[in-house]
Amino acid sequence: MFRALSLVTVVWMASALIESPTARPVHAETAGAKRWAIVIHGGAGGDPSKWSDEKRKARLDGLEAALKIGRDLLVGGGSSLDAVEAVIRSLEDNASFNAGRGAVLTQAGNAELDASIMDGRNRACGAIAGVTTIKNPIMTARLVMTDTKHVLLVGRGAEAFAASQNVPLVDPKYFLSRRGRTPQEPDPSEHPHLGTVGCAALDSEGNLAAGTSTGGTPKKLPGRVGDSPIVGAGTFADNASCAVSGTGVGEEYIRNAVAYDIAAQMLYADRSLETAITEIMTERLQPGIGGLIGVSHDGQIVMQHNTPGMSCAAADSNGRFETHLVLDHGGRPAADAAKPIDAVKSADVDEAEIRRLIGQQADAWNAGDIDRFMDVYWNDDALTFCSAGSVTRGWTATLERYKRRYPDKATMGNLSFSDLEFLRLGDDAFQVLGVWQLTRDATPIGGRFTLVLRRFDEAWRIVHDHTSVRDAP
Ligand code: ASP
Repeated sequence: MFRALSLVTVVWMASALIESPTARPVHAETAGAKRWAIVIHGGAGGDPSKWSDEKRKARLDGLEAALKIGRDLLVGGGSSLDAVEAVIRSLEDNASFNAGRGAVLTQAGNAELDASIMDGRNRACGAIAGVTTIKNPIMTARLVMTDTKHVLLVGRGAEAFAASQNVPLVDPKYFLSRRGRTPQEPDPSEHPHLGTVGCAALDSEGNLAAGTSTGGTPKKLPGRVGDSPIVGAGTFADNASCAVSGTGVGEEYIRNAVAYDIAAQMLYADRSLETAITEIMTERLQPGIGGLIGVSHDGQIVMQHNTPGMSCAAADSNGRFETHLVLDHGGRPAADAAKPIDAVKSADVDEAEIRRLIGQQADAWNAGDIDRFMDVYWNDDALTFCSAGSVTRGWTATLERYKRRYPDKATMGNLSFSDLEFLRLGDDAFQVLGVWQLTRDATPIGGRFTLVLRRFDEAWRIVHDHTSVRDAP
């Protein structure tokens, strides 16, 4: 019954779109040309030049295999929706990416998955969030789109819906299998935003589709939902403009309604997909936040990132077939290479990441979570922590010292950092100076700190902390 109704609605909406005087002629440019195009991402984040050969190869192989699946479907006249779903399913099954198997874990030590998909013909869309047993979230997102009147299902409701649709369900342990992790042993090499997957495609009928799937951000609070399942933030598709998928700090993509903004720039300001994405990447999002991929209604492919790297791949009916872990100038056109964002590509991206880590420390402290506060310290016996004239050696001793001094949330008060100054000491080292203030009662305490951070694999960690307490005023 509902299927029949929705088919009528779809046909009505499609004809309304074609007839609407304000709508762009839907695929005049590609009419009869059988042109198709597909673009994929496997997450933006850390610097691939710092990865092992094995990890680089696993990523490139995964992208290539997924791209072939999408390309073959499109060459055979398949729909962009089928291509998007099939590509994302293959990446969800690949433990090298942060989606499905291989997803990052929450603070509670389990994987909570999000996904969305959108049909550019009629803006139909479906999404699920916070699921723990659905093997291929993108498949269920598509079923939400086609077999319910809703757009987004979360948690238990989404799982019950998936079960009713007979999609493959797995034990939550299935998602922990990446490099043999157990909930107690989070992967230490996890980058804060790395490995989400997405796909945007134009099929030979001129129809666009996009989808995104993720485990979210590592050590997220249970229940946290990012941009990937939010249509208009992490995913968007409309035949009149483009299909896009994002990856990066989801909160920023939600705040800026990034995916929809790109389509809106094309529709209302008559910008090209490339100009719209460049604008978001350079003017709207801070350096180091993430990346975007997209296909326009006329088959233009764009891939951009403002992080050190982004796993991505593209193919089209002109014979293009390529995979990347990083793009020159973050994928922006050469004419924009002189823009400030480029200057920050190597230096300020690290600075932005360290600034984010320090902000994360303050947030953890203010949530009363000393363990999470300590995450930013080098977990090693050689860590040195000097405070108020005494020196503590080692991560565990530093944690114990903090816990002795601040036994509960009331004694921890509210911590803020300010006046941060950054000095790069080398490719893998930074010095950060700053001022700290702790407010518990009428008389705040505070002082200055000097941190030395080193880059370990993909994460920056404080290896030395010298904190002084200012004399009482
Ligand atoms: N955007 C995703 C999220 O915030 C993470 C990512 O793309 O790496 O959940």
